[in-house]
Amino acid sequence: MSSLPVPSALDARTQAFPVLTAAQIGRIRSGSKVREVNKGEILFEPGETNVPFFVLLTGSMEIVQSDLAGERLIVTHGPGNFTGEMTMISGRGILVRGRVTEPGEFLELSADGLRSLVARDAELSDIFMRAFILRRLELIRTGQGNVILMGSRHSANTLRLREFLTRNEHPYTYVDLDTDKTSQELLDRFEVKVDEIPVVICSARSVLRNPSIQELAECLGLNTAIDESQVRDLIIVGAGPSGLAAAVYAASEGLDALVIETATPGGQAGSSSKIENYLGFPTGISGQELAARAIAQVEKFGAKMMVAHSVAQLDCEKRPYKVVLDNGNRLAARAVLIATGAQYNKPRIPNLEKFEGQGVYYGATYMESQLCEEEEIIVVGGGNSAGQAAVFLSQTASKVHMLVRSGELSDTMSRYLTQRIEENPAIQLHYKTEITALDGGKHLERVTWRDKPSGETSVRDIRHVFIMAGASPRTDWLQGCLALDDNGFILTGRDLNGATGAPGWRLARSPQMLETSLPGVFAVGDVRSGNVKRVASAVGEGAIAVHLVHRALAEL
Ligand SMILES: Cc1cc2nc3c(=O)[nH]c(=O)nc-3n(C[C@H](O)[C@H](O)[C@H](O)COP(=O)(O)OP(=O)(O)OC[C@H]3O[C@@H](n4cnc5c(N)ncnc54)[C@H](O)[C@@H]3O)c2cc1C
Repeated sequence: MSSLPVPSALDARTQAFPVLTAAQIGRIRSGSKVREVNKGEILFEPGETNVPFFVLLTGSMEIVQSDLAGERLIVTHGPGNFTGEMTMISGRGILVRGRVTEPGEFLELSADGLRSLVARDAELSDIFMRAFILRRLELIRTGQGNVILMGSRHSANTLRLREFLTRNEHPYTYVDLDTDKTSQELLDRFEVKVDEIPVVICSARSVLRNPSIQELAECLGLNTAIDESQVRDLIIVGAGPSGLAAAVYAASEGLDALVIETATPGGQAGSSSKIENYLGFPTGISGQELAARAIAQVEKFGAKMMVAHSVAQLDCEKRPYKVVLDNGNRLAARAVLIATGAQYNKPRIPNLEKFEGQGVYYGATYMESQLCEEEEIIVVGGGNSAGQAAVFLSQTASKVHMLVRSGELSDTMSRYLTQRIEENPAIQLHYKTEITALDGGKHLERVTWRDKPSGETSVRDIRHVFIMAGASPRTDWLQGCLALDDNGFILTGRDLNGATGAPGWRLARSPQMLETSLPGVFAVGDVRSGNVKRVASAVGEGAIAVHLVHRALAEL
């Protein structure tokens, strides 16, 4: 959401808190009731879900937030103003308290009523979505959430929780215990020990000591609006680009869809600082911005999203299938779409993550090749992708060191590639060699590698390392339900011919494109065998799959 065109401060205020015209209010009236309100009346409290939407006809109200110091005013609404921010659409617990300051008449519309109004009235949908997003952005900018996170730069869990809140676009106040002088007082107040850091205070009520992201999500009520007993049309496992695209198309086409995500929506793309080759964004877009826009779209169309929960198993015995969560809960669906992606294999090298995108790369496209023009670089790996990267990068880099852990190039490497590598004077092969250290400031500056047989180490001023150690599909949780290829990626459609190791196809018809060896279970994106590992193809497959899901549902 942070990538919306940035309006001036005045415009932003007007757009965040617009005054509706009489005609616009007239269109909200049908389906609403008029409520008489009295001074001091509380209309909603932090944490409440499915809170009604209010339009002020007369009178006024204040929106306040509680923190450790008491209450702080966010805004005062008058006639023509309306309440709400992104939680109105997502159904998650709200972040603020609403109190009447002047008696009057308010229009009251249920949360469901608001969602259907947004779906049918384009002008009001634009006004509300813009206002809700700008209000959420303002809460994030000013750190006015219902969460206080007290942590330290030296704690990995602090980083994880901050990342979780940021990538979920959840506003929070951060107290840096390394620098904040008053923090000791706060810690004493809650009797917190060093190993209990980070500490999270939710809605000024609960104190969590060194919580997991599941505990934090639970405390914030991020998943409370989800009815787990409902049999859904479609459960989408994974909220990377393919899962989010599927959710948008499914919900916009009337399917009752739920997305389940282990951590935060966005997937691998969410960790990309700039995606330059995705259609429609000529100047590039950060993965997080792309994800934030997609999440707003998912919520607008009414798909549900469960975060901080992994699907641990697929119960594929009979339809409706059940996905089993990490807490043992079972959720039923008539169709399942697997969008769990892949994880690039990361060798164990200290500081690797620190330099990701700052000298350490997992792809070698034209863009990366321009970064290391006329420089010495390293390619790690001995397989096809490493070979292709070394040959490709040798056209721009001054020298390519190819570091191979074993004593030879992979025997799966194409013969022509082996030959090109061996005959290329710009590529130097180092067998049985591993990187042992990466050093630098913000960007990678120095690499140390070790020749394993001799134990000799070399330190070189190299600023770019390409890791091509393969990608592993996230399919371990499927436990024999579906046919996989030799590398564990899910086979779909025509590729299923002759597949072994999974229950046979029992229907008279052939599997549809993107359908797995189980009727009504689809796979899209990086997790699918043969998929092109790109954001655009992941999004495209997510959209196509929904069309095929309709057909599979029609068979039931
Ligand atoms: C650093 C980086 C930069 C990239 N840059 C580009 C680029 O510039 N252009 C481009 O086209 N492509 C790029 N890619 C590739 C692109 O990001 C992927 O092809 C794309 O994200 C694949 O989308 P996906 O939805 O299939 O899977 P993923 O993005 O991998 O998403 C899968 C999601 O499923 C979740 N998940 C996994 N298992 C479970 C489970 N059991 N239960 C619940 N949830 C689960 C994961 O947490 C994850 O969020 C880049 C990749 C990386 C890593």
